[in-house]
Amino acid sequence: MRWRDGRQSDNVEDRRGMSISRGAKIGGVGGLGLLAVVVIGMFLGIDPTVLLQGVQEMQPPSVSVQRGGPPAANDDQRNFVAVVLAETEDVWNETFRRMGRTYQAPKLVLFSGAVESACGVAGSAVGPFYCPSDQKVYLDLKFFEDLRTRFGASGDFAQAYVIAHEVGHHVQTLLGISKKVNELQSRVSPSERNRLSVRMELQADCFAGAWAHQADRNRHILEAGDIEEGLNAASAIGDDRIQRKTQGYVVPDAFTHGSAAQRVRWFKLGLEFGNLQTCDTFNADRL
Ligand SMILES: [Zn+2]
Repeated sequence: MRWRDGRQSDNVEDRRGMSISRGAKIGGVGGLGLLAVVVIGMFLGIDPTVLLQGVQEMQPPSVSVQRGGPPAANDDQRNFVAVVLAETEDVWNETFRRMGRTYQAPKLVLFSGAVESACGVAGSAVGPFYCPSDQKVYLDLKFFEDLRTRFGASGDFAQAYVIAHEVGHHVQTLLGISKKVNELQSRVSPSERNRLSVRMELQADCFAGAWAHQADRNRHILEAGDIEEGLNAASAIGDDRIQRKTQGYVVPDAFTHGSAAQRVRWFKLGLEFGNLQTCDTFNADRL
Protein backbone atom coordinates (compact mmCIF):
# COMPACT_ATOMS: atom_id res chain seq x y z
CA MET A 1 0.00 0.00 0.00
CA ARG A 2 1.27 3.47 -0.87
CA TRP A 3 0.96 5.33 2.41
CA ARG A 4 4.21 7.06 3.40
CA ASP A 5 3.31 10.47 2.00
CA GLY A 6 -0.25 10.32 3.26
CA ARG A 7 -1.80 12.61 5.82
CA GLN A 8 -1.77 11.31 9.40
CA SER A 9 -4.99 11.51 11.35
CA ASP A 10 -5.08 13.46 14.62
CA ASN A 11 -7.60 10.99 15.97
CA VAL A 12 -5.14 8.36 17.16
CA GLU A 13 -5.14 8.05 20.94
CA ASP A 14 -1.97 6.31 22.03
CA ARG A 15 -2.48 4.37 25.26
CA ARG A 16 0.27 1.84 24.70
CA GLY A 17 2.25 1.12 27.80
CA MET A 18 -0.55 2.26 30.08
CA SER A 19 -2.28 -0.07 32.49
CA ILE A 20 -5.98 0.17 33.07
CA SER A 21 -6.81 2.27 36.10
CA ARG A 22 -7.67 0.96 39.55
CA GLY A 23 -11.38 0.62 40.06
CA ALA A 24 -12.10 0.30 36.38
CA LYS A 25 -15.59 -1.09 36.29
CA ILE A 26 -15.30 -4.52 34.83
CA GLY A 27 -17.96 -4.85 32.20
CA GLY A 28 -19.38 -1.38 32.69
CA VAL A 29 -23.08 -1.57 33.54
CA GLY A 30 -23.27 -5.07 34.93
CA GLY A 31 -22.84 -7.63 32.23
CA LEU A 32 -24.17 -5.31 29.58
CA GLY A 33 -20.87 -3.66 28.84
CA LEU A 34 -19.23 -7.00 28.37
CA LEU A 35 -22.03 -8.17 26.17
CA ALA A 36 -21.60 -5.09 24.05
CA VAL A 37 -17.95 -5.90 23.55
CA VAL A 38 -18.86 -9.44 22.66
CA VAL A 39 -21.59 -8.52 20.25
CA ILE A 40 -20.20 -5.48 18.56
CA GLY A 41 -17.44 -5.23 16.16
CA MET A 42 -14.94 -7.77 17.27
CA PHE A 43 -12.94 -8.49 14.25
CA LEU A 44 -12.54 -12.17 14.87
CA GLY A 45 -15.16 -14.76 15.51
CA ILE A 46 -13.64 -15.47 18.87
CA ASP A 47 -15.72 -17.36 21.37
CA PRO A 48 -17.02 -14.78 23.90
CA THR A 49 -15.68 -16.91 26.75
CA VAL A 50 -12.19 -15.94 25.62
CA LEU A 51 -13.08 -12.36 26.36
CA LEU A 52 -14.66 -13.23 29.69
CA GLN A 53 -11.63 -15.25 30.72
CA GLY A 54 -9.42 -12.39 29.64
CA VAL A 55 -11.36 -10.06 31.91
CA GLN A 56 -11.28 -12.41 34.86
CA GLU A 57 -7.55 -12.78 34.53
CA MET A 58 -7.27 -9.03 34.64
CA GLN A 59 -8.93 -8.70 38.02
CA PRO A 60 -8.12 -6.80 40.07
CA PRO A 61 -7.13 -3.98 37.76
CA SER A 62 -3.71 -2.63 38.50
CA VAL A 63 -2.87 0.94 39.39
CA SER A 64 -2.60 3.22 36.42
CA VAL A 65 1.04 3.69 35.55
CA GLN A 66 2.83 4.78 32.47
CA ARG A 67 5.55 2.41 31.45
CA GLY A 68 8.25 2.52 28.87
CA GLY A 69 8.18 6.26 28.23
CA PRO A 70 6.92 7.91 25.06
CA PRO A 71 6.84 5.83 21.87
CA ALA A 72 9.82 6.13 19.58
CA ALA A 73 9.76 9.03 17.15
CA ASN A 74 10.18 6.65 14.26
CA ASP A 75 7.08 4.70 15.06
CA ASP A 76 6.27 3.17 11.72
CA GLN A 77 3.31 1.10 12.78
CA ARG A 78 1.62 3.97 14.54
CA ASN A 79 2.24 6.22 11.54
CA PHE A 80 0.78 3.61 9.24
CA VAL A 81 -2.37 3.34 11.37
CA ALA A 82 -2.68 7.14 11.46
CA VAL A 83 -2.46 7.35 7.66
CA VAL A 84 -5.02 4.60 7.11
CA LEU A 85 -7.35 6.28 9.59
CA ALA A 86 -6.91 9.59 7.75
CA GLU A 87 -7.74 7.84 4.47
CA THR A 88 -10.97 6.56 6.01
CA GLU A 89 -11.76 10.08 7.22
CA ASP A 90 -11.30 11.55 3.74
CA VAL A 91 -13.41 8.92 2.04
CA TRP A 92 -16.24 8.87 4.60
CA ASN A 93 -16.27 12.65 4.91
CA GLU A 94 -16.88 12.87 1.20
CA THR A 95 -19.42 10.05 1.13
CA PHE A 96 -21.44 11.54 3.98
CA ARG A 97 -21.25 15.00 2.43
CA ARG A 98 -22.74 13.61 -0.77
CA MET A 99 -25.59 12.17 1.31
CA GLY A 100 -26.15 15.61 2.83
CA ARG A 101 -24.81 14.45 6.20
CA THR A 102 -21.77 15.17 8.33
CA TYR A 103 -19.27 12.47 9.13
CA GLN A 104 -18.07 12.44 12.73
CA ALA A 105 -14.70 10.71 12.63
CA PRO A 106 -14.03 8.09 15.30
CA LYS A 107 -11.01 8.04 17.57
CA LEU A 108 -8.67 5.08 17.30
CA VAL A 109 -7.14 3.93 20.57
CA LEU A 110 -3.85 2.05 20.40
CA PHE A 111 -3.34 -0.11 23.47
CA SER A 112 -1.21 -2.93 24.71
CA GLY A 113 -2.43 -5.75 26.91
CA ALA A 114 -5.76 -4.47 28.16
CA VAL A 115 -7.90 -1.41 27.69
CA GLU A 116 -10.86 0.27 29.30
CA SER A 117 -13.60 1.30 26.91
CA ALA A 118 -17.17 2.51 27.40
CA CYS A 119 -18.14 -1.05 26.41
CA GLY A 120 -16.14 -2.57 29.24
CA VAL A 121 -12.60 -3.71 29.86
CA ALA A 122 -11.12 -5.80 27.10
CA GLY A 123 -7.89 -7.74 26.71
CA SER A 124 -5.91 -8.14 23.51
CA ALA A 125 -7.41 -11.61 23.04
CA VAL A 126 -10.66 -10.14 21.71
CA GLY A 127 -8.86 -8.62 18.75
CA PRO A 128 -9.60 -5.15 17.43
CA PHE A 129 -13.09 -3.90 18.22
CA TYR A 130 -15.34 -0.88 17.89
CA CYS A 131 -17.28 0.46 20.85
CA PRO A 132 -20.40 2.40 19.77
CA SER A 133 -20.87 3.94 23.22
CA ASP A 134 -17.69 6.01 22.96
CA GLN A 135 -17.36 5.77 19.17
CA LYS A 136 -13.80 4.55 19.33
CA VAL A 137 -11.90 1.80 17.56
CA TYR A 138 -9.57 -0.18 19.84
CA LEU A 139 -6.48 -1.82 18.45
CA ASP A 140 -3.53 -3.64 19.96
CA LEU A 141 -0.83 -3.63 17.29
CA LYS A 142 0.16 -7.11 18.38
CA PHE A 143 -2.93 -8.29 16.56
CA PHE A 144 -1.19 -7.61 13.26
CA GLU A 145 1.54 -10.01 14.32
CA ASP A 146 -1.11 -12.64 15.07
CA LEU A 147 -2.75 -11.94 11.76
CA ARG A 148 0.52 -12.79 10.08
CA THR A 149 1.70 -15.70 12.19
CA ARG A 150 -1.53 -17.40 13.30
CA PHE A 151 -3.78 -16.57 10.39
CA GLY A 152 -1.23 -16.39 7.59
CA ALA A 153 -2.48 -12.97 6.52
CA SER A 154 0.49 -10.72 5.98
CA GLY A 155 0.94 -7.39 4.24
CA ASP A 156 0.12 -3.80 5.04
CA PHE A 157 -3.12 -3.88 3.12
CA ALA A 158 -4.36 -6.79 5.25
CA GLN A 159 -3.88 -4.44 8.21
CA ALA A 160 -5.60 -1.56 6.45
CA TYR A 161 -8.58 -3.84 5.83
CA VAL A 162 -8.78 -4.60 9.56
CA ILE A 163 -8.86 -0.89 10.41
CA ALA A 164 -11.33 -0.10 7.63
CA HIS A 165 -13.60 -2.91 8.84
CA GLU A 166 -13.74 -1.43 12.35
CA VAL A 167 -14.36 2.03 10.91
CA GLY A 168 -17.14 0.34 8.93
CA HIS A 169 -18.84 -0.44 12.25
CA HIS A 170 -18.57 3.25 13.11
CA VAL A 171 -20.28 4.13 9.83
CA GLN A 172 -23.03 1.62 10.69
CA THR A 173 -23.44 3.37 14.03
CA LEU A 174 -23.66 6.84 12.48
CA LEU A 175 -26.21 5.61 9.94
CA GLY A 176 -28.36 4.08 12.69
CA ILE A 177 -27.92 0.56 11.36
CA SER A 178 -26.26 -0.79 14.52
CA LYS A 179 -29.04 0.50 16.74
CA LYS A 180 -31.75 -1.13 14.63
CA VAL A 181 -29.90 -4.41 14.52
CA ASN A 182 -29.25 -4.40 18.27
CA GLU A 183 -32.94 -3.82 18.94
CA LEU A 184 -33.84 -6.68 16.66
CA GLN A 185 -31.25 -8.90 18.26
CA SER A 186 -32.71 -8.37 21.71
CA ARG A 187 -35.97 -9.95 20.58
CA VAL A 188 -34.84 -13.05 18.70
CA SER A 189 -33.35 -16.48 19.34
CA PRO A 190 -29.59 -16.92 19.75
CA SER A 191 -29.14 -18.45 16.30
CA GLU A 192 -31.15 -15.65 14.71
CA ARG A 193 -29.06 -13.19 16.68
CA ASN A 194 -25.96 -14.76 15.15
CA ARG A 195 -27.42 -14.52 11.67
CA LEU A 196 -27.99 -10.79 12.16
CA SER A 197 -24.47 -10.43 13.48
CA VAL A 198 -23.14 -12.09 10.32
CA ARG A 199 -25.01 -9.57 8.16
CA MET A 200 -23.57 -6.70 10.24
CA GLU A 201 -20.05 -8.05 9.91
CA LEU A 202 -20.31 -8.72 6.19
CA GLN A 203 -21.59 -5.20 5.72
CA ALA A 204 -18.55 -3.86 7.58
CA ASP A 205 -16.38 -5.94 5.24
CA CYS A 206 -18.21 -4.46 2.27
CA PHE A 207 -17.78 -0.94 3.67
CA ALA A 208 -14.05 -1.67 4.01
CA GLY A 209 -13.98 -2.67 0.35
CA ALA A 210 -15.91 0.45 -0.67
CA TRP A 211 -13.43 2.54 1.29
CA ALA A 212 -10.48 0.96 -0.52
CA HIS A 213 -12.16 1.56 -3.88
CA GLN A 214 -12.64 5.26 -3.19
CA ALA A 215 -9.30 5.83 -1.48
CA ASP A 216 -7.60 4.27 -4.49
CA ARG A 217 -9.60 6.38 -6.90
CA ASN A 218 -8.65 9.56 -4.99
CA ARG A 219 -5.05 8.84 -4.11
CA HIS A 220 -3.95 5.61 -5.81
CA ILE A 221 -3.12 3.85 -2.58
CA LEU A 222 -3.17 0.32 -3.97
CA GLU A 223 -0.01 -1.42 -5.10
CA ALA A 224 0.39 -4.76 -6.82
CA GLY A 225 -0.59 -7.56 -4.44
CA ASP A 226 -2.63 -5.37 -2.09
CA ILE A 227 -6.01 -6.66 -3.15
CA GLU A 228 -4.80 -10.22 -2.73
CA GLU A 229 -3.56 -9.36 0.77
CA GLY A 230 -6.97 -7.97 1.71
CA LEU A 231 -8.88 -10.89 0.25
CA ASN A 232 -6.54 -13.35 1.90
CA ALA A 233 -7.08 -11.66 5.27
CA ALA A 234 -10.87 -11.67 4.80
CA SER A 235 -10.72 -15.37 4.06
CA ALA A 236 -8.30 -16.25 6.87
CA ILE A 237 -10.62 -14.87 9.53
CA GLY A 238 -13.82 -16.43 8.24
CA ASP A 239 -15.76 -18.22 11.01
CA ASP A 240 -15.41 -21.61 9.35
CA ARG A 241 -11.64 -21.26 9.05
CA ILE A 242 -11.32 -20.15 12.67
CA GLN A 243 -13.66 -22.82 14.02
CA ARG A 244 -11.84 -25.53 12.13
CA LYS A 245 -8.60 -24.27 13.54
CA THR A 246 -9.70 -23.82 17.14
CA GLN A 247 -12.23 -26.65 17.61
CA GLY A 248 -11.64 -28.91 14.64
CA TYR A 249 -15.16 -28.71 13.25
CA VAL A 250 -17.58 -26.12 11.87
CA VAL A 251 -20.90 -25.00 13.40
CA PRO A 252 -22.62 -22.60 10.97
CA ASP A 253 -25.27 -21.64 13.55
CA ALA A 254 -22.52 -20.26 15.73
CA PHE A 255 -21.13 -18.05 12.98
CA THR A 256 -21.08 -14.41 13.98
CA HIS A 257 -18.88 -12.94 11.26
CA GLY A 258 -19.53 -15.04 8.18
CA SER A 259 -17.63 -17.77 6.38
CA ALA A 260 -14.37 -17.18 4.58
CA ALA A 261 -16.15 -17.23 1.21
CA GLN A 262 -18.78 -14.75 2.42
CA ARG A 263 -16.24 -12.33 3.85
CA VAL A 264 -14.24 -12.41 0.63
CA ARG A 265 -17.39 -11.96 -1.45
CA TRP A 266 -18.59 -8.86 0.40
CA PHE A 267 -15.20 -7.25 0.67
CA LYS A 268 -14.84 -7.79 -3.08
CA LEU A 269 -18.29 -6.35 -3.84
CA GLY A 270 -17.42 -3.19 -1.93
CA LEU A 271 -14.07 -3.01 -3.65
CA GLU A 272 -15.62 -3.40 -7.07
CA PHE A 273 -18.53 -0.96 -6.78
CA GLY A 274 -17.24 1.44 -4.14
CA ASN A 275 -20.62 2.52 -2.79
CA LEU A 276 -22.84 1.92 0.20
CA GLN A 277 -25.84 0.74 -1.79
CA THR A 278 -23.98 -2.36 -2.87
CA CYS A 279 -23.42 -3.22 0.79
CA ASP A 280 -27.04 -3.90 1.76
CA THR A 281 -26.37 -7.27 3.33
CA PHE A 282 -29.66 -7.10 5.22
CA ASN A 283 -31.78 -7.35 2.09
CA ALA A 284 -29.46 -9.57 0.08
CA ASP A 285 -30.90 -12.95 -0.93
CA ARG A 286 -27.47 -14.44 -0.96
CA LEU A 287 -24.72 -13.73 1.53
ZN1 LIG B 1 -16.58 -6.58 12.91
